[in-house]
Amino acid sequence: MKVNILQWHAVASWTWDAQDETCGICRMAFDGCCPDCKLPGDDCPLIWGQCNHAFHLHCILKWVNSQTSQAHCPMCRREWHFKD
Ligand SMILES: [Zn+2]
Ligand SMILES: [Zn+2]
Ligand SMILES: [Zn+2]
Repeated sequence: MKVNILQWHAVASWTWDAQDETCGICRMAFDGCCPDCKLPGDDCPLIWGQCNHAFHLHCILKWVNSQTSQAHCPMCRREWHFKD
């Protein structure tokens, strides 16, 4: 099966204001949603850490919960704190 990604991007009418274009955890595009969600948008928001890296909220929550001690940013390895 051949999936036409260019066409899919063309019909997306909104984007998040993120520096990176893909989530560093699930590698899915920020204008899509995380693997646990079916539809992109407000139900699958992006969240920023104090290191200014952005991830899907669901991805970073899973990541933080999987850590036995202080969670670190998967991208830069600094201590992860949610940005206010
Ligand atoms: Zn993600
Ligand atoms: Zn999600
Ligand atoms: Zn980071």
